[in-house]
Order: sequence, then C-alpha cells, then structure tokens
Amino acid sequence: MSTTPPSTRMPALFIGHGTPMNALEQNVFTQSWAALGHCIGKPKAILVVSAHWQTRGVAVTAMQRPETINDFGAFPKALFDKTYPAPGSPELAQRIARLLQPLSVAQDHSWGLDHGAWSILVHLYPQADVPVVQLSMDATQSPSFHYELGQRLQPLRDEGVLIVGTGNVVHNLGRLDWGMPENGYDWAERFQARVQEIVTAGQDWALTNFAQMGADAQRSIPSADHFLPLLYVLGSRDREDDALEFVTPQCVFGSLSMMSIALWPSREP
Ligand code: ZN
Repeated sequence: MSTTPPSTRMPALFIGHGTPMNALEQNVFTQSWAALGHCIGKPKAILVVSAHWQTRGVAVTAMQRPETINDFGAFPKALFDKTYPAPGSPELAQRIARLLQPLSVAQDHSWGLDHGAWSILVHLYPQADVPVVQLSMDATQSPSFHYELGQRLQPLRDEGVLIVGTGNVVHNLGRLDWGMPENGYDWAERFQARVQEIVTAGQDWALTNFAQMGADAQRSIPSADHFLPLLYVLGSRDREDDALEFVTPQCVFGSLSMMSIALWPSREP
C-alpha cells in the first residue's frame, strides 16, 4: 500500500454554461456542476476565465468585493435579482500578474463576476464562500496565446486554486432551434465528438487551429469567445497525470454543446 500522501493539486474545469437561466434552474447540467463542486471540495480560491469578458490587453479582477454583473438581455426579473456575493482576492490577482510576467496584466476594479462565472458558481459553490478572481481574454490575440497563458497558469493548481473556464464548445446562437431541446444538429454533435477525440488523444494544442478545422468547426465556433476558455483549461493540463472526464457531452437546441471537461489530478501519485 502506498504511503504517498494524496496529491494536493487542484483539478481544472471547463464548464459548458449555456443559457443564463441555468443559474436558476435545476437540470442535468446544473446538477452535474453541483456534483463537481461537492467532489472537488473547497478550493483556496477560484480563477475564472469567462467567455463574457473580452478586453484589449489582459486584466484580472483585483477588488475585495466583486459585483454580480447582469450582462444579459431579456430574461426574467428573478435572474436580475440573483447575486453571488463571493469575495475577491487581491492577493491572487497580484500572484497572477507576477506569474504572467513579462506580460502586463491590469489590476481591474470595474468588472466583477459576469454571468459566465456566477451562473455556474451558484451551483458549484452555492455558499459563495470561496474567493473568486476573473481573468479577461485579450480579444486581439491568437488562440495559441490563450493556450499558452493556460500553460503558464498551471502552477496555481498546486497552490490550491481551482481554474475554471466557462463557455461552450459549440455555440452558435444564430442557429438555435427551440424545437430541439435535447439534441444537436449533426454538425454540432460531430464537432463535439471531435473535440473529445482530440483531447483524449492528448493533442490539445491542435484545437488552437479551430479556424482551419473545416465546416463543422466553422458552424460550431462562429466567434471564438465561447471556445477560448477551453484553451486555458487545456493549457493547464498535466498530460502525464491528469485523468480526463467528459461531463454531460450533450448538445441542446441544435447548436449548443453543454459538454464540460474535468481534469482530475492523480489522487495517489
Ligand atoms: Zn455565454
């Protein structure tokens, strides 16, 4: 029997967040997020990379008390009334800036927690008692830039920080079909499966070339915002050690993948 203590490394998560209404709903997806939070336990802090915070240059939220941002359109009042009062962590914001040097990372005091973050965190950590920091995505940069930032953030996993990317592997709002609540178009299902194959084969880097991956990819990723958070999570992957879990690999409303991906460090190295 091994006497090696369990790994203290944190998992990393990509969460397919879908509609903001998931913040209020109990369904197979939100239940899977709650189960992930339960299984992981309480991290020291959470770093979120959200599809909904794109900037010029890179910024990190550095306030003590990030506000809950209602960055969505016509939804019920109950959604606007929802808050997620988790504390921030100026210390983690500073740590991230040091880790990413010589890249300049702005210490931000005007953003907060957007719905890409809080609509999933209300299920992952409903007590809102874990400090949360958001890192913006520089919209002027290439996919490989985002993947490399993920690689450089990997040490945070050994410091008790849970890295969470939140977006959708397939996200084409122009093609949504409300008559297909539990299915995807063939091209959406195929692309979701292809991402699974590539990640399972350990060829994560290949996903930085999504713009050259053909018609299925072009339909699935009409704009990069919801796909790029995945590259941060895969960048933080330890391919020697992390076990992969595809959580709810399912498309809904034709053109939305609700697949999440968990990277589980070996419990007994
Ligand atoms: Zn979104």
